[in-house]
Amino acid sequence: MPARRLAARWVLPVAAPPIECGAVLLGSDGRIEAVGPDALVPRPAGVPGEAFPNAILIPGLVNAHTHLELTGFDFGAPPEPDFRTWIGRVRRVKETRGTDDCLSAARGGLVECWAGGVTTVGDTGDSGSVIRALAELGGSGVVYQEVFGPHPSQAAESLAGLQRRVAELGRWASGRVRIGVSPHAPYTVSGPLYAAVAAWAGAEGLPLAVHLAESPAESELLLHGTGPFAEGWRERGIPLPAGPGCSPVEWLERHGVLGERTLCIHVVQAHQADLARLARSAAAVAHCPLSNAAHGHGAAPLAGFLAHGIRVGLGTDSVLSVGMPDLLAEARVARRLAGLDADATLALATLGGARALRLEAEVGSLEPGKWGDCAIILPQSQAGGPAEQVLESRRKDLVATFLGGRDVYRAEPVRT
Ligand SMILES: [Zn+2]
Repeated sequence: MPARRLAARWVLPVAAPPIECGAVLLGSDGRIEAVGPDALVPRPAGVPGEAFPNAILIPGLVNAHTHLELTGFDFGAPPEPDFRTWIGRVRRVKETRGTDDCLSAARGGLVECWAGGVTTVGDTGDSGSVIRALAELGGSGVVYQEVFGPHPSQAAESLAGLQRRVAELGRWASGRVRIGVSPHAPYTVSGPLYAAVAAWAGAEGLPLAVHLAESPAESELLLHGTGPFAEGWRERGIPLPAGPGCSPVEWLERHGVLGERTLCIHVVQAHQADLARLARSAAAVAHCPLSNAAHGHGAAPLAGFLAHGIRVGLGTDSVLSVGMPDLLAEARVARRLAGLDADATLALATLGGARALRLEAEVGSLEPGKWGDCAIILPQSQAGGPAEQVLESRRKDLVATFLGGRDVYRAEPVRT
């Protein structure tokens, strides 16, 4: 791939202050060679340059929680209020789709990500299609292979099945496409399966993601053995957790699931003691404010996560919850929720997500040595600083997206 040089009205490295009239030099290896004022960034002979004189160049956005295999599977209606009913509906929809459907959904979802300025994803799913789409199309992300099994007697079989799938799908993994595991959620995974998957993932050094503390019904199941999930388990002959109840976060801590490689998705139903548990364990959070609101689960304690020093990234969740994923829309809601300034909010959508996925050495900010992942936005308004202008932009304002220095999206016609 040829080297290239990009210049813009503003360059926002995120890990460093904004640069007015800045430039980025991307090497032929797809990584950033230099970032700085346009006048100071080298112009090597023979390296093509492109200028976006009215636009803002930012690091590619990091969407810490997607379900790209569900792209285009939306029901065309908002989620119903009963979460357990909705989960059942998602499962039935997935059962009607074959491998080819999931693969084309994953490919389409990835292209939509790029058209929204997102260059790295943390994706959960069970079809195996997303890791293949990322590998074939040249994407970037961590793909967490799901495993289910609420009955304790299923644990050994479910773990063996997961191990087989990870071994099969590992052939798509690379430096830019990593594989992990996702024991789905406390209402679909038994305690013994959690313990077994966590122990195996720890031994293998695999990243782990879990939907956690999302709905009040999940808390009710673990705290009191009551509510819709508990009723469902009883109907299916699944034993309820024994002993005194605890919060979902404590439940995972007890089973050895929380650690620095663990990404906790949602975490709405969490109190101070749970935040302390997450901080102590060094687990990260994927904050999905629009999905949380769409399901009526409430607002996650984002300010509390940040105050405890917990790594937080932003996630859209699936089209079934939020419609067209829009990470900057998530960022605007997160900003209001935690009272953040524009720079801190943009950092959540970029470097925060990279840290949550443990990819901060590779992506999330514009620094020499990191991948040449960036998005160029033509703001509608010059009001506020450049980070403010980015946050107030819409998908249609995206001019171009680069991934490893490669063009992966261009608006037509290019407006600069
Ligand atoms: Zn999800």
